[in-house]
Amino acid sequence: MSEGSAPPSTLPYPPIHKDKKFVVLSDWDGTITTHDSNDYLTDNYGFGKEKRRQLNFDVLEGKSTFRDTFHDDLASVAANGHTFEECKEILRNNIHLDSGFEEFYGWCKARDIPVIIVSSGMEPLIRAVLSKHVGEEAAKEIDIIANDVNILPDGKWEIKFRHPSSGFGHDKSQAILPYRNLPNPPTLFFFGDGVSDISAAKHADLLFVKTKDNGENDLATYCQREGIKHALFNHFSNALPAFESVVDGKKTIDEVVV
Ligand SMILES: [Mg+2]
Repeated sequence: MSEGSAPPSTLPYPPIHKDKKFVVLSDWDGTITTHDSNDYLTDNYGFGKEKRRQLNFDVLEGKSTFRDTFHDDLASVAANGHTFEECKEILRNNIHLDSGFEEFYGWCKARDIPVIIVSSGMEPLIRAVLSKHVGEEAAKEIDIIANDVNILPDGKWEIKFRHPSSGFGHDKSQAILPYRNLPNPPTLFFFGDGVSDISAAKHADLLFVKTKDNGENDLATYCQREGIKHALFNHFSNALPAFESVVDGKKTIDEVVV
């Protein structure tokens, strides 16, 4: 999972938000949502949780790539005969947003701070869940940088990776680095929880790492192990005070990280 030159992207990027003082990039699954939607599909409709977790550990130990294990997770759902439309409905009915996210998003919107969703999931599934919770219109205006889906003529489907040559499948650092390269880069915030966030997490000025009661706190484990400074949160509502204090200049980043 080395980071050399930028991997070619099979999918377009939304325009860069230039001349902003602050930009928020956030993971979707397990960060904005209370449960990871792809894990939900794999655990309940694919090969199950035990195998999925084993594959996660293989990635953390460097035995496999996120791209390959994630592909296998989703392929197990499709192999069990679940169509993409069915998956959309399952997720719309079972995936919920972090209770503090809408307030956080509103706070950012009021201060002209762009919020960009950066996900290893598939954009159509993210929009489907988002539109159910925040409405069609609001769901349309949020930038999403994610993977996509290939739906085959026989109705079968597979994930279409944004960066097939990257071990991440979607190298999230490519969503954050263009902001770093602006003449006057904004302060960059990244919110994440998992293995797929590692590539972007290290480029944020302030990294918020979500911890969850289910113990699947792989990004927190990684940051502790690698000594990457971060602020922990378990709901957007308790990330907001620290975020707000930095945006308002009442605290420095060093004062809110561990
Ligand atoms: Mg996640």
